[in-house]
Amino acid sequence: MEIQILDKIFVPYISTEEIETQVKRIASEIASDLKDEIPVFIGVLNGSFMFAADLLKYYTHPAEISFIKVASYEGTTSTEQVTQLIGLDIDVSNRHIVFIEDIVDTGNTLEELYNIINRYKIKSVRIATLFHKPEAYKKEIPLDYVGFEIPNKFIVGYGLDYNKQGRNIPAIYQIK
Ligand code: 5GP
Ligand code: MG
Repeated sequence: MEIQILDKIFVPYISTEEIETQVKRIASEIASDLKDEIPVFIGVLNGSFMFAADLLKYYTHPAEISFIKVASYEGTTSTEQVTQLIGLDIDVSNRHIVFIEDIVDTGNTLEELYNIINRYKIKSVRIATLFHKPEAYKKEIPLDYVGFEIPNKFIVGYGLDYNKQGRNIPAIYQIK
């Protein structure tokens, strides 16, 4: 069934069950890579709050989690300018970092995340993103864990918003 958010119509795209399958897969892939370490997961607010919560529930090994907040989107388009709204509150020196992103689009945000941790001497950094738009991606940074590769069309739900609304929808809807 179609839904309306503000002035736009969205159609069902990815179900909660399909999301859950991918989140579990990513959790177990991270575990097989890092279970003997204590990784620091860093959720990127606001969009990743739901993915971060579910991912950590399925990650059953010792782990820490913190959040940072950045913003690059206005309406339905990415902007070059990535602003840091809440910074990192922990010392990540000597740690294995796993960034948790809702979606990697142009890669501008991802590049900014790498700049933020650049001043620390970290052990490793990985990126887990639930969605990726390969057609829009402009960077060389490899993505370690990807839930779904999707076409370059705007989506909402499961943490992702359209002008601040729609984050609480448990499934993914695509713009009509
Ligand atoms: P990037 O910096 O890679 O261009 O964009 C990353 C951020 O833009 C994501 O974390 C997300 O907040 C937002 N974004 C990118 N594509 C979409 C989309 O299709 N829907 C929504 N709601 N946000 C998106
Ligand atoms: Mg985001």
